[in-house]
Amino acid sequence: MITTHNPATGETLAEYAELTADEIEQRLAKAAQAFAEWRNSSIDERTGLLEKLAETYGANEEKLAEMAAREMGKTIASSRAEVSKCASLFRHLAQEGPAMLEPELWALGEGKSAEGRWLPHGPVLAVMPWNFPYWQVVRFLAPAILAGNVGLLKHASIVQGTAALMEEMMIEAGAPAGLFQNLCIRSGAVNAIIDDDRVVAVTLTGSEGAGKAVAQRAGMNLKKVVLELGGSDPFVVMPSADMDKAVEQAVTARIQNTGQSCICGKRMIVHTDVYDDFLDRYSTAMQAVVAGDPFDDATDMGPLSSMEQRDTVLSQLAKAQDEGAKLMGGDVPDGPGAYITAGILTEVPLDSETAQEEIFGPIAQVYRAADIDEAIAIANAIPFGLGSSVWTNDKGEEERFIRDIEAGMTAINQFLASAPEAPFGGIKKSGHGRELSHHGLHEFMNLKTVMRP
Ligand code: NAP
Repeated sequence: MITTHNPATGETLAEYAELTADEIEQRLAKAAQAFAEWRNSSIDERTGLLEKLAETYGANEEKLAEMAAREMGKTIASSRAEVSKCASLFRHLAQEGPAMLEPELWALGEGKSAEGRWLPHGPVLAVMPWNFPYWQVVRFLAPAILAGNVGLLKHASIVQGTAALMEEMMIEAGAPAGLFQNLCIRSGAVNAIIDDDRVVAVTLTGSEGAGKAVAQRAGMNLKKVVLELGGSDPFVVMPSADMDKAVEQAVTARIQNTGQSCICGKRMIVHTDVYDDFLDRYSTAMQAVVAGDPFDDATDMGPLSSMEQRDTVLSQLAKAQDEGAKLMGGDVPDGPGAYITAGILTEVPLDSETAQEEIFGPIAQVYRAADIDEAIAIANAIPFGLGSSVWTNDKGEEERFIRDIEAGMTAINQFLASAPEAPFGGIKKSGHGRELSHHGLHEFMNLKTVMRP
């Protein structure tokens, strides 16, 4: 049994029966059968289903949003926004997808040419996290439908209600049986599925540890893997920046989803000329953040996703202070629930473990940089390379950041957020491969080169 809990209250929500080996086998057989048919579906059938899913998510927004807010504590407003973003991705691919599947042509010389056809690849296993429990899955599912693939989901244990609803949405939208199946399993059951010949590839969004385990297994089976892993994104503020906006968005970046977003700015790196002003205003704004009931509209952020997640963050804060950092906030309020207040770590030694780690909670690290060279050096002094946000009105500095920050994404004068149209992904220990846009769509397709005399 997998038991889910409400992290805002501690109450038990539901119990889900784990699949037996026989039941997993039935679902793999069903996925293979579904692929044999869906690979031959017309582009109109695929885009029609995507349109229907956009409508279904729209019509069920409240039901879906409530489940995510209950299971992992995100605010109901952000939960609704997540469901709506999923609908927009289904719709975007329904409208723009066919053009992404147009054949490519290459001139070979002597008047000859070769053609590239985008063909489906097969059943793909998706191992997904709880933090954006719909969006992370739809980032994989929507392109899988368009590609002619089929999907198998191993969702995070704590969001099994959300996972079950996603399968329900597929059925309600009229998807063929087996096109997308939720596997209620623990992580220990994943290896055998990766080993199975009917599964052609794996995509994982989650931590570095899970990424290594899954990539290793996929590698042993010579199967392709896309990894969207952790990050400790820099948020760099230079003297020419609009300070009001930078402070305001540094707060949003760090507290959105109670700090549990892979791409939220986690390390604020501030030029020494504006450091004191930034820290002063940032501290005031972070202290004003309201942590409370996810279903209350006045709440800025809900609890962390579980008591275990809060224990992890609290032990990181204790270690940071042992290593010499100063902590403001990060308090545990009285009462039930996995709550923690927003906080700031300053004077974090650059050679400490804390400086290298991702803190998955609403605690910012603030660093002082003497100049742009030091700002970039601090930004890059971590194992991760997911996103980054830079605040400057100097074109020369902007170009330096684009060229030199080691990350898959750089946002200028805004905090980083994903968009259906733009590629998403990281470098270094943040993973490899891309999701979203035609780059994400093509990750799990067979680009067949066709030669003719
Ligand atoms: P996690 O513990 O790695 O779990 C992610 C998924 O992997 C869950 O379904 C989990 O199952 C499964 N899993 C864990 N260990 C596994 C193993 N050894 N073999 C197979 N599957 C395994 O991560 P999380 O705590 O849910 O999510 C937080 C992490 O995800 C953060 O590091 C965050 O930065 C990262 N993230 C990255 C992105 C991105 O796009 N780059 C987006 C969101 C989150 P169980 O739940 O059953 O353990």
